Amino acid sequence: MSNGLSGRTALVTGATAGIGYAVALQLAAQGAEVVVHGRDAERGAKTVQDIENAGGRARFVAADLSDADDVRRLADEAGEVDILINNAGIYPVAPTFDTTDADFDAQINVNLRAPYVLVQKLVPGMLARGEGAVVNLSTVAASTPADGAGIYGASKAGLDLLTKSWADEFGARGVRFNAVSPGPTKTAGTADFGPDGIEAMGRTTALGRAADPDEIASAITFLASPAASYINGAILDVDGGRPAIRPVA
Ligand code: NAP
Repeated sequence: MSNGLSGRTALVTGATAGIGYAVALQLAAQGAEVVVHGRDAERGAKTVQDIENAGGRARFVAADLSDADDVRRLADEAGEVDILINNAGIYPVAPTFDTTDADFDAQINVNLRAPYVLVQKLVPGMLARGEGAVVNLSTVAASTPADGAGIYGASKAGLDLLTKSWADEFGARGVRFNAVSPGPTKTAGTADFGPDGIEAMGRTTALGRAADPDEIASAITFLASPAASYINGAILDVDGGRPAIRPVA
């Protein structure tokens, strides 16, 4: 175990599965005490157990990020944190005419409003200590349209802009804000993309494959660490690279 983050506390939203689970384990392996967030108490307990089995420290707080009051309770129960990873996100796929008001609200509330509320609640403490790091989860769909993912992309494009706004607003006071923009990644959430769905998307990248959650998490962990001390306001693509346009033979 490295101790680059010892003495620091990190809140990782959506740490009961996928990329968030991988980030929680990596931050704990660097010595951070991790507040594991999600809704599913059983998977929350398993994440905590996995961290403890690896020699780390963690506790679970359940909250529904679609409810702003519950997000505020999550922040209160997390207490003072030095690192905030706004990872939890939802990405239902539906064409415009099939999208309900409830679908629209859920994506905006979970993907955009919840990070905003967590920043309102937790960044004042970081500013008071003169140090902190926030990493938001974006997506390639925030900058390139994806079929049926317009609202999702819009919610994450909003988060990208907030990332840059906060980087400017708070950077000089010691708190850095960055985002990671993953390409297709093999998680619980992408498992239902159909037979070979995520792997087929992975083949459209220059690396020709989908990512493992750990490959996204390592970029997030880096941005949250002192090793990234001069990186602020970046939206880091971790997407296997976009392929070159090749001449038709
Ligand atoms: P995932 O496997 O679907 O896991 C989502 C996590 O978010 C779970 O821990 C889930 O917790 C939590 N969550 C979802 N809705 C919630 C809500 N209303 N309240 C509280 N927690 C909630 O997700 P993932 O694929 O790892 O994606 C993580 C992030 O990366 C997301 O922001 C996503 O947009 C982004 N991303 C993913 C990909 C990809 O290919 N996977 C690509 C680009 C960007 P519970 O199940 O415990 O409720």
